Amino acid sequence: MKILKLSFLPLLFLSAFCFSQEEVEDQEAFFIKSIYEHSLMEGSCYDWLSYLSTNIGGRLSGSKNAALSVEYTADIIKKAGADKVWKQECMVPRWIRGDQEVVKIINSKSIGTKSLNCTALGNSEGSGIDGVQAEVIEVQSLEEVEELGAAGVKGKIVFYNRPMNNAHLRTFRAYGEAVDQRGRGPRIAAKYGAVGAIVRSMTTKNDDIPHTGFTFFTEEDKKIPAIAISTNDANFLSDLLEKEKVNLFMRNTSYMSTEVPSHNVVGEIKGSEFPEEIIVIGGHLDSWDLAGGAHDDGAGCVHSIQVFETFRALNYKPKRTIRCVMFMNEENGLSGGKKYAELALEKGETHIAAIESDSGGFTPRGFSADGEAEVINNNFKRVKEWFDLLEPYGLRLTKGGSGADIGPLKPQGPLMFGLRPDSQRYFDFHHTAVDHIDAVNERELKLGAAAMTSLVYLIDQNGVIQ
Ligand SMILES: [Zn+2]
Repeated sequence: MKILKLSFLPLLFLSAFCFSQEEVEDQEAFFIKSIYEHSLMEGSCYDWLSYLSTNIGGRLSGSKNAALSVEYTADIIKKAGADKVWKQECMVPRWIRGDQEVVKIINSKSIGTKSLNCTALGNSEGSGIDGVQAEVIEVQSLEEVEELGAAGVKGKIVFYNRPMNNAHLRTFRAYGEAVDQRGRGPRIAAKYGAVGAIVRSMTTKNDDIPHTGFTFFTEEDKKIPAIAISTNDANFLSDLLEKEKVNLFMRNTSYMSTEVPSHNVVGEIKGSEFPEEIIVIGGHLDSWDLAGGAHDDGAGCVHSIQVFETFRALNYKPKRTIRCVMFMNEENGLSGGKKYAELALEKGETHIAAIESDSGGFTPRGFSADGEAEVINNNFKRVKEWFDLLEPYGLRLTKGGSGADIGPLKPQGPLMFGLRPDSQRYFDFHHTAVDHIDAVNERELKLGAAAMTSLVYLIDQNGVIQ
């Protein structure tokens, strides 16, 4: 076990926690304890997140706020202790949300006319100012639309209403199983001649809040308006459809503008012993426009910056190069993640590990590990042993995914990790107008940053078998 110089650590730490003597004697355990104490007591991550999500606000790719957030995070990464900070230009799609979207039940026999809580799906294009009106049909899947074909769908509005499966403990699994309705559903409906698509919001909760998110059309596709409605309204509409035929009016005046340049922000602490070995940590800086993107993914951005601030405060000089990256455009294009990997390959850089935080600012429960088969085979068992040191903090290691932004790096061979916070409330806020700083608990956020910092520290100390 590597022994660190610990003279800089105040003796105070020795008495601040109720750890056994053996644990205190273990230098890595001791250092991790100091990481937690610093993050909880002195960490700036909540203040940064507050500024990013409130003073700057929603950061849709290509927007003025996205550009402001690039400048802001470049500044705080530098102040947090980066040796240098730079920007990587990438072209991003520019989606312009139109006027307040409308979805309305029209002249129902039993309830008359009623507006539904709704929001346009990202990258969707409009109906024009006049909107569209048609009979609505409810479906549970893309396959059902394929089976109905043009005969069943043409001229109608398709309503995708398969709920997220609340039987799954991990809500991300339920999201993964349901989100094809939002991502590809409108396109499939358009293929068979539908005039519009309505999608049940991607959330585990029954409430009145609509959730936006990316929907995919190719340039050649016929674009139809695509709008999410709240889960309460989806249930209401579904009940009504059991009683009668329903006509809906929908209007969405959003549109795609031309691509514009934007940036990833990269900060670096050069390694003292193995500078050519890079450990990258990050989150995505862009967010949807409805709120300040506090959980998604301001939390992941400030978790990552906190790693630098904590290392500096504890006077820890990493052996390996640590990069903190604010990725641009995860939500509706992933161009920042692709650009980062492309440049790493071009420069022949060696990334030994990549960690992403993009699952919210809730209490961390552990990390999932991913990577090319050989990298996982060589490392999973030994990394799992390191997690004995993180057990007192409630962290465990599982196999699983890592993060969308670091995904393009995977073929270059790093050991990949995703921070896994408690997921039970994540989809109460995800892609909504309520993803504000008030939705984030300061201590939970700081614990996430401490978990990230501890894992970076252990990788830096012990390396990765390539
Ligand atoms: Zn995200």
